[in-house]
Amino acid sequence: MTTNSTLLGGGISVDLDAITRNWKAIDTISGQALTAAVVKADAYGLGLRAVSRTLYQAGARFFFVATPDEGVALRAALPRAHIFILDGLVPRTARDYAAHNLMPVLASMGQLTEWLDFCLNRGEAAPAALHFDTGFNRVGFRMKEAELVQRELSQTRFEPQMIMSHLACADQPSHEMTRKQNGLFQGILNLFPDIPASLANSAAIMTSKDYHYQMVRPGIAVYGGRAINSRSNPMAPVIAMDVPILQIKEARIGETVGYGALHRLRRDTRLAIVGIGYADGFFRSLSGIGGQMGGKVAINGALAPILGRISMDMTAIDITDVPGFVQPGDLVEVLGPNVTVDDVADAARTIGYEILTTLNGRFPRRYVNVPNGVSID
Ligand SMILES: *Cc1c(COP(=O)(O)O)cnc(C)c1O
Repeated sequence: MTTNSTLLGGGISVDLDAITRNWKAIDTISGQALTAAVVKADAYGLGLRAVSRTLYQAGARFFFVATPDEGVALRAALPRAHIFILDGLVPRTARDYAAHNLMPVLASMGQLTEWLDFCLNRGEAAPAALHFDTGFNRVGFRMKEAELVQRELSQTRFEPQMIMSHLACADQPSHEMTRKQNGLFQGILNLFPDIPASLANSAAIMTSKDYHYQMVRPGIAVYGGRAINSRSNPMAPVIAMDVPILQIKEARIGETVGYGALHRLRRDTRLAIVGIGYADGFFRSLSGIGGQMGGKVAINGALAPILGRISMDMTAIDITDVPGFVQPGDLVEVLGPNVTVDDVADAARTIGYEILTTLNGRFPRRYVNVPNGVSID
């Protein structure tokens, strides 16, 4: 998956040095707080092993994944990291978590009871964190369960490693929901004095020190994505993607392009058909239909709009105004210096997170600027 190539050509490159710089920049912002790294979903689609080893080398020691299976894979890559499982404790798997030294982020009374019973039976506490739902309404103990949790724990000698919660609106820094959730979180922390706390994702880290507590949990910013919608993105871009041109054709004014014959050409147009489609995660919502602007790619440094519907494996682009000589086999920039992850996200009416985790398809991934001492196998 790292250095293999395809007959088709094109590919994805992931800049591991940019990941290092981004993590270190966040670590500087977070000051006294420990900077963890969120590497769920195959490190946001960039490759769990290479990315997590890069982050460990940069100094990260605490890692978050979603599922216990991701945790097992991460443990194989990083024997000594501290690993939290954000999905919580999957019923009847406590023994597996402990066998791989994975810490569940416990989120319900059922999970807490199962974990405490497991610890009692083995005669030894196994570390875990607690997640309180301060208003997101995703996983987490309900606010009103906090005292019950505290009472349950006071009857054991079990001390959670960490108390955490997650913000719903951190990407909009002035949203009142964030202050409200933070207030509720502080109320919870009063019940668990001296236990480390964690609240901030990338956006909250950049918003205020008030949200840093003892550990911050950045994901998207490490991978170069924009965390805060209304601001320019300070992070270094990490991913680039090039795909080949299959064919070039001169189409005439009045002809239509693609399925549904929905886009009618308003001028004679030089089209390039490129070898990427929605099966590669190239969002169909990037289609350029009628007057409606779709996505863009770049070629020879110039932007070229997508014309007509994106199909499963192919996309038509307008290269009429692209300077220089273009021929089949030339590579088109889908992501890179001229087309950022967030440009694509905006055009597809989604977020950079979905672009990173979805847009990869059939293309081989190559790691560039691999830090010294990092093994990417
Ligand atoms: C995904 C996730 C994060 C990371 O969020 P980013 O916005 O990518 O920084 C942090 N905490 C939790 C609980 C998450 O699910």
